[in-house]
Amino acid sequence: MASSAKPVLISGAGLASLLLAQSLRLARIPFRIFERDSSFIFRAQGYRLRLSAEGLDAIESVLDKTSWDKFWATCGKTGGAGFAAFDAVTGEQTEQKVAEGLASRGGKTIGISRGDMRRIFAEEVEGNIEWGKQVVGYEKGVDNSGEEGVRVVFADGGKSSWGSMLVGGEGIYSKVAKQLSGGKLKVYDTGARGIHGQAPTTAFKGLGEGVFRLTDTTSERGSTFLITNVRPGDMEDPNVQFGWTMGGEPGVIRAPNDDYSIVGKIAVDMAKDLTKNWHPKFRPLFDEMSEVDAAFWKITCSTPSGVPEWPNDPRATVIGDAVHSMTPAGGIGANTAVRDSALLGRLLREAGGYKPGVTAAYEKEMRVYASEAVHQSYSMAVAAFGIKIDEETSDTV
Ligand SMILES: Cc1cc2nc3c(=O)[nH]c(=O)nc-3n(C[C@H](O)[C@H](O)[C@H](O)COP(=O)(O)OP(=O)(O)OC[C@H]3O[C@@H](n4cnc5c(N)ncnc54)[C@H](O)[C@@H]3O)c2cc1C
Repeated sequence: MASSAKPVLISGAGLASLLLAQSLRLARIPFRIFERDSSFIFRAQGYRLRLSAEGLDAIESVLDKTSWDKFWATCGKTGGAGFAAFDAVTGEQTEQKVAEGLASRGGKTIGISRGDMRRIFAEEVEGNIEWGKQVVGYEKGVDNSGEEGVRVVFADGGKSSWGSMLVGGEGIYSKVAKQLSGGKLKVYDTGARGIHGQAPTTAFKGLGEGVFRLTDTTSERGSTFLITNVRPGDMEDPNVQFGWTMGGEPGVIRAPNDDYSIVGKIAVDMAKDLTKNWHPKFRPLFDEMSEVDAAFWKITCSTPSGVPEWPNDPRATVIGDAVHSMTPAGGIGANTAVRDSALLGRLLREAGGYKPGVTAAYEKEMRVYASEAVHQSYSMAVAAFGIKIDEETSDTV
């Protein structure tokens, strides 16, 4: 049983927070989650995550057998077709297929939609989520019984009840991260933008099975690329949708007023316009796009030189994108986030709940693999999307 009766407070009900919650639930450590949205279906969840060997190991180390079996069964397993790159305009293949590069288990590329992953991670912890709670900070102090603790502060001025510690998992705009690190944790705006789209699986037939990158370098404004993962099995069912992610060099894609909450037709029209010269075998991806699922997104990245140091606080720490946001290059953001959940969850389980030293041990180990991951993703994005971050002068979000 847990040593402290006060719950671990968690901000944000994203992938990292929910997996951490599973770890705490299984160890019977009490916890509360505060999520700004009003429910799980509030905003688009659609895009597909490719899971690395490290990511899968982390998830398996946390979940019990039943949940893991369900998770694994839900994952798409793309067989040996591997990765292939195409010229989007001519339709010609520009790079040889690499069969193993992206495989993470049993020679297969493993993928799952963010929505499905979140749904499975949320099972049996949903009752501990408080919806519509926008966290803007936290304060430390002493509760009525004279015990030290921490509580979160909400946008409406309200405060949570006291917790033993706080884990900030509320993504790239994390206020907990800013407060904890005294502003050292930064997320840079790379200037590059993207569009996420979905279409019925039948629109992907021209591609076949595998992971694909299409590149268009013909526009004077800059190059555009699209990444998608086409899995077998569902190819004939028009009721199933696959997603794709498009990105453009800075200046190529821009939401009206740079407003990234815009979804729907405007994003569809822009995707269609950008790809009007693309080869006919790729056109169905845009012609058959689902309007409700189309969305813009901003390509951001944490400090490329690594996760900075800040004075450790035993009662507060940060996980996932809140501490290491990455560009989509490399597809390792979520994989790194779940490693945080597994690591911090294990340390808390071993300690029986909050204990001085846990956040320091977690941060020491996390800084190593997360710094490597951010650096890797940034380096790939420099080459692929023409971005450049100057840690002193670039804009932050
Ligand atoms: C288009 C796209 C494709 C991607 N593809 C991949 C991929 O293939 N592989 C991969 O590994 N990664 C990928 N990523 C990255 C991955 O999605 C993120 O790294 C991952 O979701 C991070 O999880 P998280 O729990 O830290 O944050 P999130 O999943 O962003 O969750 C944060 C949660 O906090 C909530 N929240 C935000 N602010 C507040 C607040 N103030 N108070 C309370 N709650 C708040 C949010 O509503 C959300 O529920 C992709 C990202 C994008 C945008």
